[in-house]
Amino acid sequence: MTLPPGLPDYHVHTHRCGHAGGASRDFVRKAIGRGLAEIAFTDHIPLYFLPEERRDPRLAMREDQFEDYVAEVLALREEFRGRIAVRLGLEADYAEGYEETLAAWLSRAPWDLVLGSVHFVAGDWIDAPGSAARFEKEGTERLYDEYYRLLAKAARSRQFDVLTHFDLPKKFGHRPAVRREVAEAGAIAAALESGCAVEISSAGLRKPVAEAYPEDRLLRQIVAAGIPVTFSSDAHAPAEVGWGYEQTLAIARDCGVKDYVTFEKRRRLRHPLPA
Ligand SMILES: [Zn+2]
Ligand SMILES: [Zn+2]
Repeated sequence: MTLPPGLPDYHVHTHRCGHAGGASRDFVRKAIGRGLAEIAFTDHIPLYFLPEERRDPRLAMREDQFEDYVAEVLALREEFRGRIAVRLGLEADYAEGYEETLAAWLSRAPWDLVLGSVHFVAGDWIDAPGSAARFEKEGTERLYDEYYRLLAKAARSRQFDVLTHFDLPKKFGHRPAVRREVAEAGAIAAALESGCAVEISSAGLRKPVAEAYPEDRLLRQIVAAGIPVTFSSDAHAPAEVGWGYEQTLAIARDCGVKDYVTFEKRRRLRHPLPA
């Protein structure tokens, strides 16, 4: 099925993060093949908030790869100019108390967009291989509440253009016994007040939970609140670029999405969602 014209894939990794594969150029070629108008490379920021010995090179690029990453994306932008817009982005972890360190990292390149992600919750990863065991041990409700508290703080830090995988704690299928409505509402309000967009990500469809981020119920609330959305795959391989967009487009329409946003030099542009 061909996709309507104009769509972006705003969450794409490179081999540098240690858990993605393929040549970056092949991600761009795939985006063109899928009929996308834009692709943003948004590789994982070096783990600036962890002590040296905990900076696992299988989870994020190393500090010494950062310059090379930026240079490669800028070169691809030139190489593919006129065929597809290649955006320079970064998936930046939010870590409470390290906002100034993050600001220093973000000042180092001319980003088109910065994704705000919360992967590190209550002292450890929430979505890494091995994280699933935490839910039973530490309490699903507690981890969800703490996650949304941090997501709200991330938004309010105003360092990010887009919040990623909004309901990430569901990744392995853990659901709170009672909905975390207060915590969810806090994150939604923070996104609205700080002008953050939210990604509609097909990645959850490839995970044990088998559901897009965010789930329909939350996406409806986000859209009703007037928070802008964009589209992404969280591709870690060329074949995943634009993956699942038929499904996420259908979900978006069903949840009342009327338009989506793109970014250039961190300026936001709104586009109507094609019927
Ligand atoms: Zn990743
Ligand atoms: Zn992520």
